[in-house]
Amino acid sequence: MEQVSDRLAKLSASATIAMNQKSKDLQAEGIDVINLSVGEPDFNTPDHIKQAAKKAIDDNYSFYPPVAGYPALRQAIVDKLKKQNGLDYTPDQITVSNGAKHSIVNVLLCIINAGDEVIIPAPYWVSYAEQSKIAEGTNVIIDTGIENDFKVTPEQLAQAITPKTRALLLCSPSNPTGSVYSKDELEALANVLAPHERIIIISDEIYEHINFVGKHESIAQFPNVKDRVVLVNGVSKGYAMTGWRLGYIAAPVWITKAVTKLQGQFTSGATAVAQIASITALTGDHGPTQEMNKAFKRRRDLVLGHLETIDGVKCSVPGGAFYVFPDMSAYFGKSVEGRDIKDSGDLCMYLLESGHIATVPGAAFGAPDCIRISFANSDENLVEAMKRLKNALARLS
Ligand code: PMP
Ligand code: GLU
Repeated sequence: MEQVSDRLAKLSASATIAMNQKSKDLQAEGIDVINLSVGEPDFNTPDHIKQAAKKAIDDNYSFYPPVAGYPALRQAIVDKLKKQNGLDYTPDQITVSNGAKHSIVNVLLCIINAGDEVIIPAPYWVSYAEQSKIAEGTNVIIDTGIENDFKVTPEQLAQAITPKTRALLLCSPSNPTGSVYSKDELEALANVLAPHERIIIISDEIYEHINFVGKHESIAQFPNVKDRVVLVNGVSKGYAMTGWRLGYIAAPVWITKAVTKLQGQFTSGATAVAQIASITALTGDHGPTQEMNKAFKRRRDLVLGHLETIDGVKCSVPGGAFYVFPDMSAYFGKSVEGRDIKDSGDLCMYLLESGHIATVPGAAFGAPDCIRISFANSDENLVEAMKRLKNALARLS
């Protein structure tokens, strides 16, 4: 009987990965698609990190690593959190996993019981809602709008909390909106959360190094909530290491212990060579990271400059990450060559098949009026993609 479990049947496939695959399939057929769907730096991993990995292979890092991560890597993470973020942690408060995506699902599986409520401000990264479902959580979505730069307010958060709330998923800089919470905004959220001792705050900081507005701020800096914050980070975005699959949490020991126990049955820890390379990423030269950040800022400005010239497109100014998330609802209800554009899904499919640019429908992020456009692509491709976008939209009436 070909029947998957109820757990899997309820799960939606990742829209970001699906659009990326569709775009690659069209490219393989020889169609010149510009792929602005998946969120990953278009840069190669910096050379000094690659060298460290090559040396790790020669040094025979070919055996099972400690499940929570090599002590040297966990220490490097502790040092990074102190030096870059002013946060105090000890190595037993760090667990390394196979990417931040894996870190987040690990935490949810370790803290959520069936029916526990998980607060997720929308727009949210596609995987949060699905990972929470895998853990049998009940998602409580808070809608935020462009008028508030897509940030959740303390009042909205206070209203969403119930005795069943077990977790809050926060993301700053945000995927998909690029919003960056200021220190004051985070403090106001921390003050709302402080009296609710049952709530674990999962703070996804994977875009820390892609920030155009200044210093990165973490909600873990506030003593009234720190012992309930799970800080999530990794090397994928800041060091152009998506394929190395390495993420980590910094959290109370009861949570790092639980996560380590869980992955001891699942993965036996993150890949040894990737762990050693990540020590160099975290402790080595950050020049390439800064250069990439500069390039992303230039590209953000380039894309925003083009979007401003397109009628009906409303867009916030992302303070970080590498996405713009424009409201395209002015185009819903239009049609072209017998093709109706009812929603963000239809629009993205039209842009892909007819305009040859791959984007992701906002519905997958809990914001059906928008689409996500990644600007982690070359300046040249972005200029061409914006031209295609403008032309494709102009054909709709
Ligand atoms: N969080 C957010 C918001 C992301 O955009 C991503 C990118 N996939 C991740 C977590 C996971 O990153 P990774 O698993 O590559 O470390
Ligand atoms: N975070 C990226 C994105 O949102 C990578 C794809 C994924 O892991 O979902 O596109």
